[in-house]
Amino acid sequence: MSQPILILGGTSEAYALAERLVAAGQRVISSLAGRTESPRLPAGEVRIGGFGGVEGLMDYLRQQGIRCVIDATHPFAAQMGWHAWGACRLSGVPLLRIERPPWTPAPGDRWEEVAGWSEAVERLRWINARRVFLAIGRQELQHFASLDDLWFLIRLVSPPDPLPPFRQAEWLYARGPFALADERDLLDRYRIDAIVCKNSGGEATAAKLIAARERGIPVVMRKRPPRPPEVQSVATVEAALAWLNEVLQT
Ligand code: NAP
Repeated sequence: MSQPILILGGTSEAYALAERLVAAGQRVISSLAGRTESPRLPAGEVRIGGFGGVEGLMDYLRQQGIRCVIDATHPFAAQMGWHAWGACRLSGVPLLRIERPPWTPAPGDRWEEVAGWSEAVERLRWINARRVFLAIGRQELQHFASLDDLWFLIRLVSPPDPLPPFRQAEWLYARGPFALADERDLLDRYRIDAIVCKNSGGEATAAKLIAARERGIPVVMRKRPPRPPEVQSVATVEAALAWLNEVLQT
């Protein structure tokens, strides 16, 4: 059996990379955290669940004879990249990060960039928001649930269980990509006066930012968490394939 490539997954880039590598005849193991009940499975082999910190990952790298690691976790997955860096450095296994570029503000944007959700709540107060479009996923909604005097439009892929106790909220279940015309309509129909989101980057959910810019609506934008600075990072699956091509030849 050839030595596998380990992809730390959970993103569209991770799925695309696994597919390309398997199609090219490479042995690939994709790792998922196990947060989603029945996740879409990537091409190739799959393992699910945490490794048990840096040491657990080091054991796994050794046991499986991992050739190299691609950290393709989400830009807002704050821990896994640090663990991958530690484990790969100590094990001498090559590591590459693949991360889509963040969005950057364009002329006319009214962004309030924040490092955390308590700061986001402060900014909502500061800009005197009343009707807020919350597009932050379902894990961290509790930070906003006690703002009883604000009305929220909360868009998620699927309902959270349990539903956080928002006093005034409408829940909307939809999966991107979202078209600009629909995002314009959404902001107008619900009379949104502020948006809260994470700087995920990518095309699929960017249209709301354009619609907000056109209307002068402020966007409270959570910045990405810090990453280990020494890890080489690329923005695309193509660039990751080029890096792998070189590493696998050495
Ligand atoms: P995190 O804070 O970076 O990770 C927390 C712990 O979960 C890690 O220490 C690790 O446990 C385990 N873990 C994370 N990713 C893993 C993976 N791919 N394979 C095996 N174990 C993993 O990440 P998170 O924010 O909880 O997100 C979990 C997963 O969901 C990530 O893989 C990410 O790509 C995906 N995701 C996250 C977001 C987001 O906004 N955070 C959005 C979309 C998808 P051990 O220490 O035990 O190894």
